[in-house]
Amino acid sequence: MHELKIAEELSAMVSHHASAGGLTVVDRVNISVGQFVQVVPDLLEAAFKIAARDSVASEARLEIEIIAAEMRCRRCGTEYRPGDDIHACTACGSAEIEVVHGKELFIKSIEGD
Ligand SMILES: [Zn+2]
Repeated sequence: MHELKIAEELSAMVSHHASAGGLTVVDRVNISVGQFVQVVPDLLEAAFKIAARDSVASEARLEIEIIAAEMRCRRCGTEYRPGDDIHACTACGSAEIEVVHGKELFIKSIEGD
């Protein structure tokens, strides 16, 4: 399961940040996830509870913000939001495109005591 692997990595990062920041209990973890990472928020929350069960974040709530996908055309430089199926450039139709946003996965902040 995709979410479980992400949850395990998140849990490790949260524990690291918590000990670096002197937190003994983590109440809330705010993360940003790109649209292309394709996590199911409910599954990720459930997986995080399992992954973090023996850590300082065992009672923490996971707040997930989805970052909308954004592409850039390598040919004409246009930046645009891709459709569900069509990823080609909306201005010139080129398929030489790169992802500007949508593959991120990071912890924005951790709250606790
Ligand atoms: Zn283009």
